[in-house]
Amino acid sequence: MRRGHLFVVSGPSGAGKGTLIGKLMYSVPDAWLSVSCTTRQPRDCEIPDVSYHFVTNEAFDATAAQDGFLEWARYSDHAYGTPRAEVEEKLSEGKQVVLEIDVQGARQVKEKRPDAHLVFIEPPSLEELRRRLEARGTEDEETIDKRMAAAVMEMAAKDEYEKIVMNDDVDEALATLVAYVNEQADK
Ligand code: 5GP
Repeated sequence: MRRGHLFVVSGPSGAGKGTLIGKLMYSVPDAWLSVSCTTRQPRDCEIPDVSYHFVTNEAFDATAAQDGFLEWARYSDHAYGTPRAEVEEKLSEGKQVVLEIDVQGARQVKEKRPDAHLVFIEPPSLEELRRRLEARGTEDEETIDKRMAAAVMEMAAKDEYEKIVMNDDVDEALATLVAYVNEQADK
């Protein structure tokens, strides 16, 4: 059995993080994906407590006040946080724990746990990112504009990450991601 490691995966909304991470879970048997809390509304395709724990602002603030999050941040008008206890439990069980979180959260995790591995999923271009967000059809134009503004900020932070994975071709990006996770987990 391998020792548990912590992986943080970030990248702009629409970069394909969700798809890649979903496939990563099938490719790395001891990987475990943390389910975050968020105050935003579920999208039609999302399943409560699988995609996210969808919580009220009050419940979110209460958890934050009790230091129940490993990290938390506001992104595009909503709060998102990683439940601390589950992550610690899974790491102690020897899982490769994956957090799909934004750049602000990644910085907090790296500060608290310098041994965390930071991976950035990069879209081929900002034009392609907008095209993917529009094609996804889950957000209105105003939300897409906000997410594009957030994407520009996130792209500026990519050099803070140990590993940058370009998601032009999904299969190639997945192979790179799986190889990186296994390489670090085997150390
Ligand atoms: P979305 O609303 O598209 O699901 O997520 C918006 C952004 O919030 C994405 O960059 C996603 O990775 C990030 N995010 C999701 N969960 C968390 C979390 O627990 N903490 C932080 N800091 N960011 C999160």
